[in-house]
Amino acid sequence: MNLPFKINLQDKVIVVTGGGGVLCGAFAKAVAACGAKTAILDLRKENADKIAAEILAEGGVAMGIGANVLDAESLRIAKTAINDAYGSCDILINGAGGNHPKGTTSLEYYHIGDEKKDLVTFFGLDPEGVSFVFNLNFLGTLLPTQVFAMDLMNKQDATILNISSMNAFSPLTKIPAYSGAKAAVSNFTKWLAVHFSKVGIRVNAIAPGFFVTDQNRSLLYDANGTPTERTEKILSQTPMDRFGNVEELIGTLLWLLCPAASSFVNGVVIPVDGGFSAYSGV
Ligand code: NAD
Repeated sequence: MNLPFKINLQDKVIVVTGGGGVLCGAFAKAVAACGAKTAILDLRKENADKIAAEILAEGGVAMGIGANVLDAESLRIAKTAINDAYGSCDILINGAGGNHPKGTTSLEYYHIGDEKKDLVTFFGLDPEGVSFVFNLNFLGTLLPTQVFAMDLMNKQDATILNISSMNAFSPLTKIPAYSGAKAAVSNFTKWLAVHFSKVGIRVNAIAPGFFVTDQNRSLLYDANGTPTERTEKILSQTPMDRFGNVEELIGTLLWLLCPAASSFVNGVVIPVDGGFSAYSGV
């Protein structure tokens, strides 16, 4: 993998949840290319294995593990496997997350009578869908931290990196559950940074702007690949006029994981968004 710059992660044990996905698969490859022993956790084990195989083929050290970030027991089993193979963990990247159609309204704005149409309005939001999204993003960050952070105590260079989103700064239309859940992830990032400040663990987050991946593709393009109205809106609000490329997150990732570069950076949420969060729309 081409890196914007290299940092020394030689023999660091790095756990990446959601590492079978698009963004965190790239994160796993980047840290492995810097020498880390990389444990890729994903609900879809075959995707985690695929990323691990790609790292191994490049001469890196990696293992894919099937694990559910909402199931503490499955995380504990994963931790035992990692500790047996690589030793104790140094860095945790909490990447598993995403939205779900059941936490999403059909329309941006409510108008009188909409609830009588064949639409999901705010009033028809399924509480189970909302819980699913909240749990995946918030609990799915908290539980792996409970399981893996004990390994990080009083180590040199221990750090936790969470993944927030643009919608944590200002909620995006249609996705109240995902927006609230990522706001909770940003808030929790700050809380944890304070809580762990006496035991040598830095906690920060990246808030990616818009990157086309599996979890948002159907919102951004229709079935035949035509950009949706939402895509046009996003791009019109992104001063750089385009979606991000996954590689454009890697510099921020490596900076936040590198103590020589960011040893006094703690409790921040860094937008990487082509200016989206800076633009007021006028
Ligand atoms: P993705 O769907 O490609 O990756 C998410 C991965 O998480 C998948 O491989 C999935 O199998 C895994 N996962 C889902 N539920 C899980 C569970 N319970 N336990 C373990 N693994 C589970 O999506 P992505 O876009 O690469 O998302 C990565 C992170 O970045 C997510 O937290 C997402 O919310 C966030 N994010 C993405 C964007 C974007 O534009 N794509 C923007 C902002 C934030």
